[in-house]
Amino acid sequence: MSNYIVLVKQVPDVSQITDNAFDPETGTLIRTRLASVINELDAQALAFAHYMKKISSDRRGQIIALTMGPPMAEEVLRYSLSRCVDKAILLTDRALGGADTVATANPLAFAVRKIVKEIFNNDNDYYVVSGMQSVDGDTAQVPPQMAEELSLPCIAYVTDAEFKNNRFVFTRIISGGSQIAAAKKLPAVITVAKYEFPLYATFSKTRWANQAEIITWTSEDIKATHFGVKGSKTAVIRVFPPGKSMRKYRQFNDAKSLAKALVESFKSGNGEKDSAGGKQANRYVLPEKRKSLLERNFEGTRKEQDDYAILSEKLRELGIEEAHQIDNEARQKILKAAGEHFHERALEDMINGLELTEPAFKGEVWVVAEHSEGVVHPATFELIGKARELADSLETKVGVCLAGYQIESMAKELIAAGADNIYIIDDELLNIFDPTAYRKAIADAIKTYWPQIVLYAATPQGRMLAPMVSYSLECGLTADCTGLDIRDSSRKGDIALLLQTRPALGGNVMATIRTKNSKSQMATARPGVMKKIPPDKSRKGNVIKHKVELSEDDISLEVIRTELGAGDVNFGAEVIVSGGKGMQNRDNYDRLLDTLCDGLTKKLNTSVEKGASRAAVEQGFVERAHQVGQTGTSIGPKLYIALGISGAIQHMIGVANTETIVAVNSDPNAPIFKQCDYYIVGTVEETIPQLVQALEQI
Ligand SMILES: Cc1cc2nc3c(=O)[nH]c(=O)nc-3n(C[C@H](O)[C@H](O)[C@H](O)COP(=O)(O)OP(=O)(O)OC[C@H]3O[C@@H](n4cnc5c(N)ncnc54)[C@H](O)[C@@H]3O)c2cc1C
Repeated sequence: MSNYIVLVKQVPDVSQITDNAFDPETGTLIRTRLASVINELDAQALAFAHYMKKISSDRRGQIIALTMGPPMAEEVLRYSLSRCVDKAILLTDRALGGADTVATANPLAFAVRKIVKEIFNNDNDYYVVSGMQSVDGDTAQVPPQMAEELSLPCIAYVTDAEFKNNRFVFTRIISGGSQIAAAKKLPAVITVAKYEFPLYATFSKTRWANQAEIITWTSEDIKATHFGVKGSKTAVIRVFPPGKSMRKYRQFNDAKSLAKALVESFKSGNGEKDSAGGKQANRYVLPEKRKSLLERNFEGTRKEQDDYAILSEKLRELGIEEAHQIDNEARQKILKAAGEHFHERALEDMINGLELTEPAFKGEVWVVAEHSEGVVHPATFELIGKARELADSLETKVGVCLAGYQIESMAKELIAAGADNIYIIDDELLNIFDPTAYRKAIADAIKTYWPQIVLYAATPQGRMLAPMVSYSLECGLTADCTGLDIRDSSRKGDIALLLQTRPALGGNVMATIRTKNSKSQMATARPGVMKKIPPDKSRKGNVIKHKVELSEDDISLEVIRTELGAGDVNFGAEVIVSGGKGMQNRDNYDRLLDTLCDGLTKKLNTSVEKGASRAAVEQGFVERAHQVGQTGTSIGPKLYIALGISGAIQHMIGVANTETIVAVNSDPNAPIFKQCDYYIVGTVEETIPQLVQALEQI
């Protein structure tokens, strides 16, 4: 008999954002002005736990809902009770507020321990079930970090379950395909990526839920070790509106005008790609290499930047070139010039900052390599490109941590891509990716060499591995970054920090985050955003073998079957035409896409390839090798045509580097229309033949 602990979270409703939710001065979204709802993936996790209980035909198993938040988070517990939950627990305490993912995972893990002891009577046959991520943070970090705290197996990105031979086996999303796996031992943590069979509340269940007892625990009750602001390993430095996209969002009402526009844009292609989020900032220079004391490149609030501008202008005026020259008289003059802008304490902070020259972190810049079937994941090369840029600014080396079995042959390629040192952990037990075994191997290498920065790809593998490694090493982690820069963190000092910029609240705001109280700064970066550098086969590098003691006990998952896309797909083509679930069936996908591809090949005299959304692949319209997106291939053609594709973030990540995006969709509110250049509202069945005809005529 299994029990279930479902993690639920109350989040702002980012699907219903009104204009007055934005601060008119800063353009930033004000979270408190949004309605609160249950995180959609947590609602799916609830339904999934209910489904697991049902397919195991076990009526005795209990489903417990657990949330951490302010007293009003009780609402999501009542929601959960009205669906399928037997008991609901609210972890609420001011001391727990302001937490990052580490300081969230830790108290939740301690609450799980208390549930197991007091409600499950120490029965270890249970699953912690959670949504893969929440819309406010989108980090996907908390469940793997809880698994790490509790030393449990973690099966992430689950989409289905079966109950076979008295145990659960799960289907989950992996990079480039899917996998069937089971936990080798219980308890286990699972994160749900998609389960679209919602639970509804009956009238009587709602009445019961409204009166049911909510068990309330405080920080004292659970005795967590990392909580609140103090226990956090990251801090937000600034929040700002996302950069303006360069897409054109132009609607056409007839296929002929659309055909003309896409041919024109293909022929006049100026190589401009949408740069929102991936903009390169000025290169950082270490203090000892700066021409003057006042030349500082720091990230801070607008007020801090303004204050610093006043200080530096006055120091220049006074002819002061070194911090020790700032005597009392100079101080008084600066304070007079500052007027209401800043007072003595702020001035002292700034002067202390000017005196600091030592970087806060030392060591190499590392990339954790991802590979499958002997092929390095393209995102690894992008990260090496970024690591090279960061390491050159910091005047250090780029290291790549490469774990697996019989992998040494990949070292050359990684060196050609920009790495200096390849740290190889070669072990038969690392033959296939097991999160616990890989965590042990990589964490061991990191704590031997302590690089100052560790980058992972924000792929399903990286987003599971990075939280486990960082938690085990007590380091901060920022997930899914779209910008990574070296800056001094504030006017007070903190030299040469990795500033990690990422979208939050469903992409409606951007946040810049720094690591604190950690020996290394860690981040996962979104595939397709960082730029790889052209390979240089003449580059020289070192291969360093690192031995880690691994045993069968370190393997946490039994992998039953892996399905990966294979096949010869030319994603280097200048034009890619993709079909989504809106193509309706395989026949439509083949017939309509083929005619359009032929028409485009003739008209544009170039290579054209077929792509697909994940949903189209799952419907069996085409083989997985054609999948475009986060877990498929990231592409950057001159022209991308999306047919019957809604525009989910995981799909659009894969086409971010495209010059022109064209969309056809029957839903006038399809999200893809807000992310493309040209579009037509219409069915694929009608629009594609018209487009083919128009291409012949123009
Ligand atoms: C961890 C994870 C990784 C993922 N990785 C990827 C990935 O790599 N790539 C990817 O694509 N997705 C990925 N997904 C899935 C992604 O979230 C979406 O579910 C998927 O992209 C949806 O595909 P779709 O747009 O074809 O289908 P839907 O979202 O179902 O959209 C179908 C669209 O077709 C339109 N339509 C319907 N009928 C017609 C018609 N007759 N004519 C015109 N339009 C029509 C509809 O209006 C709708 O907009 C991932 C999800 C997760 C959780």
